[in-house]
Amino acid sequence: MTDFGSGPAADEIEVTVMGPGYGESIVVHATNNFWIVVDSCIPSGEKVAAAVSYLNAIGVDLAAVRFVVSTHWHDDHVRGISQILNLSPNAKLVLASALQQKEFMQIATAFGNTNDAVVPGASELAECFRIIRARTLPGARPSAVFASSGKVLWDMPVGGVQVKIDVLSPSDADITEAVRRFSELWPGERAPLNRVPPSHPNHVAMALHIAIGEHNVLLGADLEKTVALDSGWEAVLSDDSRQIRKSTLYKVAHHGSITGHHDGIWERLLEATPTSLLTPFRRGRVKLPKETDKHRIRSLSGGAFITSPVGGVCQGSCRVNRYAACLYISADALVRSGFR
Ligand SMILES: [Zn+2]
Repeated sequence: MTDFGSGPAADEIEVTVMGPGYGESIVVHATNNFWIVVDSCIPSGEKVAAAVSYLNAIGVDLAAVRFVVSTHWHDDHVRGISQILNLSPNAKLVLASALQQKEFMQIATAFGNTNDAVVPGASELAECFRIIRARTLPGARPSAVFASSGKVLWDMPVGGVQVKIDVLSPSDADITEAVRRFSELWPGERAPLNRVPPSHPNHVAMALHIAIGEHNVLLGADLEKTVALDSGWEAVLSDDSRQIRKSTLYKVAHHGSITGHHDGIWERLLEATPTSLLTPFRRGRVKLPKETDKHRIRSLSGGAFITSPVGGVCQGSCRVNRYAACLYISADALVRSGFR
């Protein structure tokens, strides 16, 4: 069991990124016992979601979790997310907008009780919908928060500290494309599914910007750069309808892969030499980040941290533990950072 210490003080911002090698989960303390969980993973050999283990270990009642966000429905980001939702009675479930569509609901329902290896993530999301239905008051309709570029999840003071959560992606064009693909997969009510869903729905991944007082955090999810101008990071960077303040802390997109890299992220969404946090992805022959990715991220960052020691991206003074990286920011400055 990882020793997580005692958790943040009320006025401390804390961003904890957990990634045991396969999977990613982020827990944000936006001061004053306001907690946000983004994605979920379960470390191998364990049964409890990493975010639940973490919050339990530092003595946080999950009633203080206000948002449980699923950035996209890949298995490495959703395992255990229904556990977190189930234990967080006051949390809103936030899903990328493409999932709202009838076609996806049909797929989630069809595969909800079947082999998760066929459609990774579907049974977790089906369980989340069951939890929401059970919580819905008579006369109301069960609902999650469906979010895409432009949505503001929160814009209110928390104990006197202004907190704003902006959704940066997916773009409308990416949602349209995802819906088209989902509908192609679904042969009809009575026919069996003849194909599995696309394996790379990263274009509908939800990147978030969280402003807490004067501090800004960019969570890049698994969002990728594509060739289309209305898609992925290109769409985020070309949106001039609102001002997104530059961040000093970046959860690097897509496990540090070059596919999640865009120069514009570093030039326009991040301050110079930000602190970078990332989780590795190791499954079969796929290993992220690659050596070239580590070099690139190090060269662009003031400090770079990876959650699993195997990655070795660490720069400067950082301590490595099994799978968690934490940053703490006091009211006006980064006071300490590192792993524990
Ligand atoms: Zn991933």
